[in-house]
Amino acid sequence: MATGRFLAFEGIDGSGKSTQASRVAKGLEARLAFEPGDTVLGAALRELLLHDFSSDPTSVAEALLMAADRAQHVETVIVPELASGRHVVTDRFNGSTLAYQGFGRGLDRNVLEQVLSFATGGLTPDLTIVVDCDLETARERSTGLKADRLEQLDPSFHARVRAGFLTLAEANSSWVVINGEQSLHEVATAVNAAIAHHLGLEVKE
Ligand code: ADP
Repeated sequence: MATGRFLAFEGIDGSGKSTQASRVAKGLEARLAFEPGDTVLGAALRELLLHDFSSDPTSVAEALLMAADRAQHVETVIVPELASGRHVVTDRFNGSTLAYQGFGRGLDRNVLEQVLSFATGGLTPDLTIVVDCDLETARERSTGLKADRLEQLDPSFHARVRAGFLTLAEANSSWVVINGEQSLHEVATAVNAAIAHHLGLEVKE
């Protein structure tokens, strides 16, 4: 049986990436995955990383906990699904660690790359789609939701993260950037075109 294809959505909170990830997973009959928190261990790590304001991990601890979440996710969910022939669409993957802990927190990106390689066994998405949007638009779209530990960091942090995603996309031929400022329909059309072009897959309505 052929291996499934692996697709990641990345972007700042409020960019619209989760909306696209769930739509695409449905249209491809793929496993919808997300990070952090898509395993039993991961759910506990997500709580510590995003919702427990008293845990206060250092930047290095934060990066390693994100990597631990990914290691568990890759080995127990993503690899088995891909091996069974099912496509996997994940809401965040390595790109988020590089953007948030690398560009945002200022950790050494070469070291992070090594940590991520260890955590994932070298698995990388066939296609990474960055849904890019202005900080202000993202903030407006996120109103009403309680900001988590990373979301409540200052705008300059999120500006570095956004710029980080764009820098990573420029350096990787398997990454594409979609303008998330567009209407939902326009974003969906651009995302579907990128998937058709890079993976040869049609996202059904
Ligand atoms: P993220 O996963 O990046 O945090 P979501 O996909 O959860 O973002 O979207 C945040 C909010 O913005 C949701 O209410 C969603 O319906 C809305 N939204 C997403 N994409 C768009 C868009 N292109 N135009 C307008 N609203 C959008």
